[in-house]
Amino acid sequence: MNFFKRFFSKNKTLIQCPRCLGKGHVDQDDIKRLRQELKWRPGKCAYCNGKGEVESDMISKVAVDEAYLATNLSQTERERLINRDFRALERMREFNAETDQIIEEIKELHFVRKLDVEQITRLYLQSTPGLGPENYFERKRELMEYISKVIAHTK
Ligand SMILES: [Zn+2]
Repeated sequence: MNFFKRFFSKNKTLIQCPRCLGKGHVDQDDIKRLRQELKWRPGKCAYCNGKGEVESDMISKVAVDEAYLATNLSQTERERLINRDFRALERMREFNAETDQIIEEIKELHFVRKLDVEQITRLYLQSTPGLGPENYFERKRELMEYISKVIAHTK
């Protein structure tokens, strides 16, 4: 960052975070409002980093409803994304494409191929080799929960 950028960044206007509306955390209402039911879970707001406020130019850098910018993203990757790092943007696109593909796949397996939640879960578990028994049951529970959510959300 050059001198002027750093100097003037101190004078940047802070605005209420448009994702969490100033609360510092994202709840079910925010998730619904931003239509991220299948992509986010409630928790600390990754958009404002829990501060409730963002610099006014944040909105032009990362979309308020960007699914990739969630709490499970590391601080370094968050910074890279805000600075529009080329590789971070690539990872973001890849992540979003993969997420959308999985959601579409689940819908097809259920609504077209008529598989139930249990059967779809088994398919995904088979494609995840090397899960220990402990991880297996945890993973299975999470998968079933998520697959049910996708199906319920589509209805
Ligand atoms: Zn926020």
